[in-house]
Amino acid sequence: MRKTLPVVLLFTSVALSCATSPTGKSQLKLVSDSQMAALGTDAYAQLKQETPISKDQQAIAYVNCVANAITREVTEQTSWEVTLFDDKQVNAFALPGGKIGVYTGLLDVAETQDQLASVLGHEVGHVLARHGNARYSANIASQIGLIAAAVALGESTGESGLALAALGIGLQVGVLMPYGRAHESEADVIGLDLMARAGFDPRGSVELWRNMSGEGGSQPPEFLSTHPSHERRINDLNNRMAGALQTYEQARQQGKKPNCA
Ligand SMILES: [Zn+2]
Repeated sequence: MRKTLPVVLLFTSVALSCATSPTGKSQLKLVSDSQMAALGTDAYAQLKQETPISKDQQAIAYVNCVANAITREVTEQTSWEVTLFDDKQVNAFALPGGKIGVYTGLLDVAETQDQLASVLGHEVGHVLARHGNARYSANIASQIGLIAAAVALGESTGESGLALAALGIGLQVGVLMPYGRAHESEADVIGLDLMARAGFDPRGSVELWRNMSGEGGSQPPEFLSTHPSHERRINDLNNRMAGALQTYEQARQQGKKPNCA
């Protein structure tokens, strides 16, 4: 009986743990921010061991310039680490704990600093909205039965695999997994605002998705997810563009004029 205690505690916290995302959506939150940050930091360290890291100093400086301008707008996390992975996949990610990864393949598709900023804004948006936590919590909730069985049998629950999946990284590390449509849309909204506040032209987001439409292989990257479709995504972004352009103009007036090359 002693072994089932953690499961009981888990049930107790389910009732207490519903968080509200930046755009006002409520979602399940079973894991603390500091636990998610620890998971993100671990996953990042693993990725850095298993994926070649770019040595192209100019490209590294460029990616850092764009990422730093975006993360400067994030007050709840002040320290960020950025890595440019030498890999042809068209992808990028951000993890709780202040970790950002960009793959060199993305730089072929994101042709301007504004387009790259729109990807990084989107990825940081997932972190700010705690989508990894929501997914991890949903996974935990749906697997409580399995965990209870595993605990009773004294088996490993595969917790680290669950955590990686929740962060959007597949069990084969390096494969990024799409979030659901609601999370993607919310990350788009947060990302558009973030990039505009940083002084990047928000119209770059629509340009990026147009470029993306011309790309795509058999395994679509995280932000190439078919939910929502590119067209719907572009429509949603355009519906918010007037407000984003105002934010952008204000940022420019405040002297925020990133010039990354
Ligand atoms: Zn996304």
